[in-house]
Amino acid sequence: MARQLDIATRLVHAGERQVPSAVPVSTPIYASVTYTYSSMAEVDKVFGGEVPGYVYSRYANPTLTALENAVLSLEGGFGASAFGSGMAALHAALLACDIASGCTVLASQDLYGATIGLLNNVFTSFGVSTIMVDYSDLDALEKKAREVRPRIMIAETVSNPLLKVSDLGCCAEIAHAVGAHLIVDNTFATPYLCRPFDLGADLVVHSATKYLAGHGDVMGGIAIAREEPQHNALRSIMKLAGGIMSPYDAHEILRGLKTLALRVERQCSNARTIAEKLSADRHVSRVHYPGLVGGDARRKLERTLRPNYAGAMVAIELTNNTREGAFRFMDALRLVVRSTSLGDVFSSALHPATASHRDVPPARRRAFGISDGLVRLSIGIEHVDDILADLEHALGASTS
Ligand code: PLP
Repeated sequence: MARQLDIATRLVHAGERQVPSAVPVSTPIYASVTYTYSSMAEVDKVFGGEVPGYVYSRYANPTLTALENAVLSLEGGFGASAFGSGMAALHAALLACDIASGCTVLASQDLYGATIGLLNNVFTSFGVSTIMVDYSDLDALEKKAREVRPRIMIAETVSNPLLKVSDLGCCAEIAHAVGAHLIVDNTFATPYLCRPFDLGADLVVHSATKYLAGHGDVMGGIAIAREEPQHNALRSIMKLAGGIMSPYDAHEILRGLKTLALRVERQCSNARTIAEKLSADRHVSRVHYPGLVGGDARRKLERTLRPNYAGAMVAIELTNNTREGAFRFMDALRLVVRSTSLGDVFSSALHPATASHRDVPPARRRAFGISDGLVRLSIGIEHVDDILADLEHALGASTS
């Protein structure tokens, strides 16, 4: 007769390691750190990469694999890797492009502030030199690329916070002509509006914290490589540096993805209405929104973005273009949330000079066009009339 295990042992093992007889309809959260196999020979084969399988969650995890495969199917490319934040994904993407002492990164001047910080603070101390240029001036970009022969070029599809749309096809041509890798941060556009690999990008990065997750309750990042060597490098960085995504967060993001199209459709339509209305508001001196152009400029835009879409971000400069004016406007908001993120179901407002671009020296900030009165709005899925009413009421307060 089989020996009855003690209660202390049953508490540890009872009910565990049972393989379900049916396939779960939605991916479960695999919280298990390790995986066991029926024999050491099998473990050896999995460790050696001879047969697919999981051994340790810092290397790979089934919930993360589901998310990675979902994003891969949206973006294309060779392989996707999920990290703990957008910054961890960007850091890994730069490393996967062999960033090293003595090399140059040619970066778009209005990248997200922390990306600029990562290049200028962290990588500079390892001997990397970063040069910032305006990626919307393609002649100047090409000239600079030929002059400095960068190893990496890095741009955002839609830049933060001025919402300039990069002509990614031209950027990729310029990069490849000088032997550089092009990394594209596609966070603001999402794969619903742009697929940078189709335009020649080498690596695509997302802060999944934003539109992919979409509800302001989870952090994550994804880096996708077009070619196998960069994908292998990303997996190796994940394994060795350990900036992995939690399976709980991967599950949330996978759920968020399911409604991405619905959310982005509504957000883009709301943003267009708001940008048009605010363009005529006397309290606003300038609206930054890529969709307000027509003719050749629109055709140029559509080389990168899905036709008739211009994203769901709107940045405004107030007539009272001062920090005080921006603070008064933001303090008067009742529905639109003052918050540091974007891409959520709720509308939110951010003051770049004191938040996302706080660490960029003021003179450089102003030179890039980020004034103290600039406010960046992330438009949500609420009814557009309610968002507008809140903005219009708060704009009135910006001059009072
Ligand atoms: N890229 C862009 C365009 C961002 O706006 C952000 C964050 O705001 C990041 C990357 C960094 O993402 P995370 O905050 O998930 O690290």
